[in-house]
Amino acid sequence: MDYKQYITVVPDFPKEGIKFKDITTLMENGEVYKKAIDEMADFAKEKEIDVVVGPEARGFVVGCPIAYALGVGFVPVRKAGKLPREVIEIDYGLEYGKDSLNLHKDSIKPGQKVLITDDLLATGGTIEATIQMVEKLGGVVAGIVFMIELSYLDGRDKLKQYDVFSLMTY
Ligand code: IMP
Repeated sequence: MDYKQYITVVPDFPKEGIKFKDITTLMENGEVYKKAIDEMADFAKEKEIDVVVGPEARGFVVGCPIAYALGVGFVPVRKAGKLPREVIEIDYGLEYGKDSLNLHKDSIKPGQKVLITDDLLATGGTIEATIQMVEKLGGVVAGIVFMIELSYLDGRDKLKQYDVFSLMTY
């Protein structure tokens, strides 16, 4: 399946010079969205995943249906101030900005096998921060899956010791 034909590339969003990959046009197509999620879930099928973790907001769009397909739980990573219970927090750098991410402290048990998901790998800052929080809680990162990888930003260099799958590469 040529998934790229369902992605809209938007020039100069959210800043000049950035070619934003808009996945909403893929999500709008039920058949293609299902195929994409099934293919991403297939990557994780043999990994005995205990829980899926994904950062807001598009990490939910990818991670929640994958968790459902695998029959496991989903744990949200959110921006500071959004999660109601005790959290661990980490600062991270983005392709366009800086922020801090949170994870509920009791959401991952030591030794649990974790699949990390997001819509897109750019510089890898978001996923690197997510990995650090998961590992701090004792989780084992068994795989990382993206809908899109921007290979020219070399985010994969930060993920060398992990099993990474991306559905599309630009
Ligand atoms: P990174 O931390 O630099 O790898 O950036 C990845 C994060 O930024 C992901 O959570 C994406 O949702 C978001 N992002 C960066 N570039 C794009 C894009 O072109 N389209 C959609 N999301 C993007």
